Amino acid sequence: MIEIKDLHKSYKMGSNSLHVLKGINFTAEEGELVAIMGSSGSGKSTLLNILGMLDEADSGEYTLDGVPIKNLSETKAAQYRNKFLGFVFQSFNLINYKSALENVALPLYYQKVPRKERQEKALQYLERVGLKEWATHLPSELSGGQKQRVAIARAMAAEPKVLLADEPTGALDSTTSYEVMDLIQKINDEGNTILVVTHEEDIAHMCKRIVHLRDGVIVEDKKVKQVRASEYVQ
Ligand code: ADP
Ligand code: MG
Repeated sequence: MIEIKDLHKSYKMGSNSLHVLKGINFTAEEGELVAIMGSSGSGKSTLLNILGMLDEADSGEYTLDGVPIKNLSETKAAQYRNKFLGFVFQSFNLINYKSALENVALPLYYQKVPRKERQEKALQYLERVGLKEWATHLPSELSGGQKQRVAIARAMAAEPKVLLADEPTGALDSTTSYEVMDLIQKINDEGNTILVVTHEEDIAHMCKRIVHLRDGVIVEDKKVKQVRASEYVQ
């Protein structure tokens, strides 16, 4: 599903340059649940943003579902992004003046799904994350965990090939974190490919594989016995 070869990325700041990704090789098959773990500043978000086509590498190869991602026009890149990728962020990134339902329906609007079908599908996805009865509520009326579940429903509504989550539990207490990971595990159980960036060891162990990033290089890549988050939520 994802294949990257010898990926490099530097940030230029004036006459200085910060080499952040120093030759990353990585593949993820369909249906995997991979944690990208590392301490703050190790390059996790930079890597995820490149995988998410929100940023471009300086060199290296990236193939997503068989499509080489390089030198694409903005329009083409946006098309692939909408078609292939779903995003979940630490800070939820919901639109504050739109209801939970409208937030989930938004990617479908961009996919030009007709209004009625959009509403139905959005409601289905809200139901899937256990928030059907919250459909008309604004994000400000939801808890952090509920906001993240709405964000996950929104990401999934567009039926992406890969879900990319950058510190999805970073703003949540541990119980709520486990609820969100329980949902991510269930979505993965249904066959979806998911990458989760985290700096937390316990969250990483709820994935099936841990890729450890340190100073812009992968220092470890191992399959792990998945800890089920449901064991920690009642
Ligand atoms: P992580 O997500 O693992 O905390 P990041 O990928 O966000 O790490 O950042 C890696 C390094 O790159 C850090 O030193 C950070 O300060 C730097 N960095 C990240 N984004 C930018 C940017 N847009 N411009 C300059 N430096 C950046
Ligand atoms: Mg980060």
